[in-house]
Parts: sequence; C-alpha cells; structure tokens
Amino acid sequence: MKVILASNNKNKIREMARILEPFGMEVVSQREAGADFEVEESGATFRENAEIKAAAVFERLRKPVIADDSGLVVDALGGAPGVYSHRYAGENAKDKERCEKLLSEMTDVPEEKRTARFVCEICFIDENGIRHFFTGNCEGIIGTEEKGENGFGYDPVFYCDGKSLAEMTDDEKNSISHRGNALRLMREYLEER
Ligand code: IMP
Repeated sequence: MKVILASNNKNKIREMARILEPFGMEVVSQREAGADFEVEESGATFRENAEIKAAAVFERLRKPVIADDSGLVVDALGGAPGVYSHRYAGENAKDKERCEKLLSEMTDVPEEKRTARFVCEICFIDENGIRHFFTGNCEGIIGTEEKGENGFGYDPVFYCDGKSLAEMTDDEKNSISHRGNALRLMREYLEER
C-alpha cells in the first residue's frame, strides 16, 4: 500500500518511514507527491491539527494520507507547550532554543514534579476518504540538561529509563515513542481490515 505523509518535517518522515516500510507500506512525503504547501495548524487539540493537515492533502491528491500532530505535555507547566510545542520559542526558533526555553521555565521544579509525556495523534484518511484516528503516548521526565545528538525537537531534554531520547538510536526511540505507539495501532488496524 502506498501512503502519503502529510508533513514536510524530515525527521518525522524518517521515523514514520522506518516504522511503516518493514510492513510493506510505501511512504512518500507530501512534497514528493506533488502537494508542496504548508497548512496552518489552527486546531485547539492534537487531533484537530492532525485532521486539518491530513484533510488538506487528501483534498488535493485524493489518495490515502497520514498526518501526525504531536507535542510535549509537561505537568509542572499545566500541559504546556502542548499543541504549541513547535511555536514555543517563537515561529522561527530552532530546536536548541526550544529546549533551552523549556529548561529555563523548569529551573525551580524538583525532580519528582518534572513528569511529562510526548503525545502523537495520527489521522489516517483511507482511499474512500474515511478518517481514522490513533493516539500514542510516551511517558518520561524533563531533565536538567540537554544530552545526545540524535532525534529532533525536545528529544535531548526528555528522559526515559535514564537516558534522553536523543541518546537513543532511531530503532530504540521508535520502540517506545509516542509516534511509534500510534503507528503500531494504525498498522494493527490495517492488518485486521
Ligand atoms: P507539529 O506536530 O508539526 O506541530 O510539531 C510538533 C513539535 O513537537 C515539533 O516541532 C517538536 O518540537 C515537538 N515534537 C514532536 N514529536 C517529537 C519527538 O518525537 N521528539 C521531540 N520533539 C517532538
């Protein structure tokens, strides 16, 4: 099955392809598929944003499409940055600036209160235009320093089982990540139907 990924985020595309391709799914980015545009993420939830992105690409190409909307939910910050994870340090900020801002907001938070989770909502629109949703979480804590060179986004400050996601290989991260968990649910659904 060939499916279009409604994203221009190279890191997300790499992670998603690595999870889906071993199961016979051929993935192409929306750019490669001829839908080279950005969609405004105007939704109030991960689910709404995933649906907005998937629907925009489906409207254009009329082919099966997957969109991921994801972000970091930090308990001590009342759920922030949440759906604003990408824009947390300003529209054009870099990953390092996002991580630094988060660490500075958390300076006075003691270890036991540094709990957080990554959330990923997948919207899959099938060949008939039917919308399906799959959610994945990854529980961890916000560390006090950045560690590791792999991954992207907040991976260097998000720790799971004693190491940051940026210290893990792609396969290690995918085996526990929010995106990996949501995509595995989607794959199970596809295998059953
Ligand atoms: P969006 O889904 O394109 O709105 O972007 C969500 C933002 O959340 C990304 O730009 C990252 O900053 C962050 N994010 C989402 N998934 C991950 C991940 O797997 N690791 C680290 N940061 C992530």
